[in-house]
Amino acid sequence: MRKKLFMFGIDSATWDLIRPWVAEGKLPGFKKLLSGGAACDLMSTVPPLTPVAWPTMMTGSSPGDHGSYDFYSLDKNRELTVNLASDIPYPFVWELLSDAGLRVAAVNIPITFPVRPLNGIMVGGLLTPGLKSDFIYPPELKKEFIKKFPRYEFNPRVKATRNDPESYRTLFKEIKKEVTDVIAVSDWVLGKEKWDFFAMNFMAVDHVQHFFWNDKRAMLEIYRLVDKYLERVLKKYGRTHRFLVVSDHGAGPLEKTMFLNVWLKKRGYLRFKNTPAVVLKRLLSFLGMNPDRLITLASKLRLVRHSGKMEMGKRNRLMNRLVLSYADIDWDRTEAYSFGMYGGIYLTRKNKTLIKKIIGEMQADFGTDLTFIDSSQNLYGTDRYPATIPDIQFLMREGAIVSTNIYAFSGHRLFTDPITHKSGEHRMKGILALYPGQDVLKETENASLLDITPTILDYFGVALPDYCRGRSLFKKEIRDGKLVEGIEI
Ligand SMILES: [Zn+2]
Repeated sequence: MRKKLFMFGIDSATWDLIRPWVAEGKLPGFKKLLSGGAACDLMSTVPPLTPVAWPTMMTGSSPGDHGSYDFYSLDKNRELTVNLASDIPYPFVWELLSDAGLRVAAVNIPITFPVRPLNGIMVGGLLTPGLKSDFIYPPELKKEFIKKFPRYEFNPRVKATRNDPESYRTLFKEIKKEVTDVIAVSDWVLGKEKWDFFAMNFMAVDHVQHFFWNDKRAMLEIYRLVDKYLERVLKKYGRTHRFLVVSDHGAGPLEKTMFLNVWLKKRGYLRFKNTPAVVLKRLLSFLGMNPDRLITLASKLRLVRHSGKMEMGKRNRLMNRLVLSYADIDWDRTEAYSFGMYGGIYLTRKNKTLIKKIIGEMQADFGTDLTFIDSSQNLYGTDRYPATIPDIQFLMREGAIVSTNIYAFSGHRLFTDPITHKSGEHRMKGILALYPGQDVLKETENASLLDITPTILDYFGVALPDYCRGRSLFKKEIRDGKLVEGIEI
């Protein structure tokens, strides 16, 4: 009887890379998974961004309902703040399973800090500040964890710089260490907890794809490390447990970065203040002084640590003095602005006619490059977080062009070479596989992240909460971990 479920997460994994490598015999773990399991695409959220996608997958609620929309948001004073799991109003699936009396464990799932009590063990993922924070539940395990894994990192530490090959070599080493660290912690938790549901996630595939998209050998090396672990756990648990392999989004090449605020300014929707400081900053911007260059320069001068997301506050204060920031916007005369990793459009005064007008103008100006555009209200069916979720969302060339606006005016050109020295970006199609189970999944053409929590709850026979918008992907009902034959859903 199969009662236990192992959720194997690979942030950003894509079949576009995996399937050809499987065909070439390079990924034996995935080969086993595909030959003995059912597999399909898993549609991500709009935008296909980690802090939007993982909470959607792990709560079963839509971004419009859970409100986790980006790594950052602008607070009341329009200062950059980091978003935390404590802002998410719904329980994660492992909490629902805990309430039903099951034993659970989760390792390195993004946006789970601060960790919440559960019936088992939880180690925080991406955006966990570090080993000094309350990164683990139960807290009594903290000492043992730090002793065993004194150099464990929750966030990538190094950023590569295009004209600095050494920085890429250092980054690649860091990415490899991420894989081995997560494997070590997973094995430790697997040995400690008598789990019914175990979830773990690799961030390394996401990181290698962002910075090494043009280096297939580097990407394959990381995939092979992950594959080796997949092969090992399939061998160990595959005959007695069921496996759910997922990614939160896919990946593909990144062509350009887009600064939509340049377009909004040109169209007259966004206006800056008329102060001498703003005039000077605009001149500097015209001369090519942009946040990306400043960060590189500042890190060379060791003014800021060239590192992960938690340093953002410090960096941002430095930036605000030198480049156009949200504080420089004339808010009384501004109708719309773009903010965030995927740069959606926010209106300063909510207005449906204006939403339609801007959508129409973007369609006219960007033509077929604009592959998706809609209002968040339409997309999510709710307007619950008007301050933190943009009114208009869009994708350019499926994500090959990304509109990024962390600073109000990151450059004076609408399109530039990719900032942050990336060569890869996310795509809407992630991966889903269930092992074993050729005949277990329904036709899954439209499987989405919203369906994962319902599928896990269905597997354990736990009731689906009413805020869940997806449905179980199992063809036949599963009760108590056992397939109940003949019941078609
Ligand atoms: Zn991700």
